[in-house]
Amino acid sequence: MVLDETYDVIVVGGGHAGCEAAYCAAKMGSSVLLITMNMQSIAQMSCNPAMGGVAKGQIVREIDALGGGSGIITDKSMIQFRMLNKSKGPAMWSPRVQSDRMLFAQYWREQLESTPGLNMFQDMVSGLLVSDGTIHGVKTSLGLEFRSKTVILTSGTFMNGLIHVGDQNFGGGRAGERASTGITEELIQLGFEAGRMKTGTPPRIDGRTIDYNLMEEQPGDEHPGQFSFTGENKLKKQRSCWITHTSQEVHDTLKKGFDRSPLFNGAIKGTGPRYCPSIEDKIDRFSEKSSHQIFVEPEGWSTVEVYVNGFSTSLPIEIQHEALRKVQGFKNAKFFRPGYAIEYDYFPPTQLKHTLETKLVSGLYFAGQINGTTGYEEAACQGLMAGVNASLKVKGEAPFILGRADAYIGVLIDDLITKGTDEPYRMFTSRAEYRLLLRQDNADIRLTALGHKIGLAGEARMKVLKLKQSQIQKGQQALDKNLPLASINEVLQIKDEKLAKEKIKTNKLVARPGLYLKDFKESFQTQDWWNDEVVEQLEIDIKYGGYIARERDNVAKMKRLNDKEIPENFNYLKVKGLSYEGRDKLEMIRPATIAQAGRISGISQSDIHVLLVYMGR
Ligand code: FAD
Repeated sequence: MVLDETYDVIVVGGGHAGCEAAYCAAKMGSSVLLITMNMQSIAQMSCNPAMGGVAKGQIVREIDALGGGSGIITDKSMIQFRMLNKSKGPAMWSPRVQSDRMLFAQYWREQLESTPGLNMFQDMVSGLLVSDGTIHGVKTSLGLEFRSKTVILTSGTFMNGLIHVGDQNFGGGRAGERASTGITEELIQLGFEAGRMKTGTPPRIDGRTIDYNLMEEQPGDEHPGQFSFTGENKLKKQRSCWITHTSQEVHDTLKKGFDRSPLFNGAIKGTGPRYCPSIEDKIDRFSEKSSHQIFVEPEGWSTVEVYVNGFSTSLPIEIQHEALRKVQGFKNAKFFRPGYAIEYDYFPPTQLKHTLETKLVSGLYFAGQINGTTGYEEAACQGLMAGVNASLKVKGEAPFILGRADAYIGVLIDDLITKGTDEPYRMFTSRAEYRLLLRQDNADIRLTALGHKIGLAGEARMKVLKLKQSQIQKGQQALDKNLPLASINEVLQIKDEKLAKEKIKTNKLVARPGLYLKDFKESFQTQDWWNDEVVEQLEIDIKYGGYIARERDNVAKMKRLNDKEIPENFNYLKVKGLSYEGRDKLEMIRPATIAQAGRISGISQSDIHVLLVYMGR
């Protein structure tokens, strides 16, 4: 039975990728149907109640700058804010928040329900309607069919999900929720390659049974920031996290269960996240360490449940229990939920174009954990890009692609589709070659106008951006003037610096190590451009201007290469002189440009040279 009219976009899955995809596509004017297995669990944080962190915080800022929903929802539901890496340079500053898990899900649901053109339906999608290499809709487990011009699959950890706790395992997409079945097999029949990955989560504890006096408090920032550039939803009060440590005794207890560990006895076949290892993995890999740090994170404003970050495990429950009780502060701990690991299907992302549309089936997009990534932020930004591009495709407009010099989102997608990944991919600042340009503070300057052009970022955002830009300009002009000698020397004296003999421009003073724009507050604070955000921006431009200019030069050089496009149907077999490996990889990945070809692992400089010579003819 066919239900409803033909939609522009069907989004399968209501996780982080699915919510962003549906929200963004509908915001851009598409008619959208979000089909998810359980409407009570829309926008669940399957693992820790936190958003952002190193490089991930930059991604959330970028989503917000483009007009996506994750930044605003995170601000509304946050209970603690910290800017990580503040002691390092601005490229490394990364916002991270603890969220109220239940509010996060509630606000997303409200956001989706209040977006015109966005419809929802609860069911499991069990198959795809594909003919002549084009998607036409989906089939569901209730025997229904929904027609659409495009489909975005965001099935997360659910496809053929298998949960492991000790020597028990059972089907499930996440604890308490069933696995989704059917689609993988259909996709394989269509010619897709699939793989298995795994991830894990720690036990959740009743906070009333924990002794916080034995732990170190980790409060939020004194002046908490936020993710959204809209400036709304500022945090007024915060909850602390707590730090404790494992010990040799804890490790010895955990080791008692290693023979029943699905990780070590071969029950788990999928590859896990190297950078988010389970506690048993850490003990095994770093056997010389007798202690590991544990962060005790509250799950919300009004719940006693806490998340034990750093203690992810799939060991037998009684071992988890015995070992955790030996951790400082957990002597009387009572479990709300045990830790577990989960294996699930993913699709190697080299099967995708930059738009996240599959190369095999026109109109079918993949976003989120299904592409081999891990993390809410990584999933959400892919959802945004797939939602935007599906919407643009339906309208017959040009695709929206972010480059590696535009955004972390561009780096992530380019890495995925060019190099693929054989372990859960998470973002790091080190993955971005232009990280001084891709800062969290300037995501709006980089991206909001682009989001506005495609109809995603609204007028209000553009107004906020234009005001900021005009204030920066005014500030730059003001700082490019000489300051009175008395004002300069007043500051230099406080700073114990050699006094000046003649007037100096403020920007020259601020360029000196140890001097900051806020030191000259007295001289500028009454001017209408003076506010924290603009001051930060001006100071970064002054102190890091030289490095930023150098990075821009590198981008320009790369762009010249980037612009050299390779036709979609290019015949690599005809190019004599390519290495065998190079030819195979190029045939498989079909890069869009010479620069993308150069980033494929296994493609040598000589392959690129041969290609350039051939194309030059
Ligand atoms: P999900 O959030 O998994 O959402 C998938 C959605 O799709 C769900 O709503 C589901 O109901 C729906 N769905 C699936 N199949 C169908 C179907 N056929 N029909 C209809 N609806 C369907 N990330 C980290 O960064 N660090 C960690 O340590 C970490 N640990 C994790 C531990 C566990 C146990 C789990 C489950 C996840 C963990 N994650 C971790 C991953 C994190 O939860 C995901 O990266 C993120 O949620 C992915 O978002 P997503 O939207 O792709 O998928």
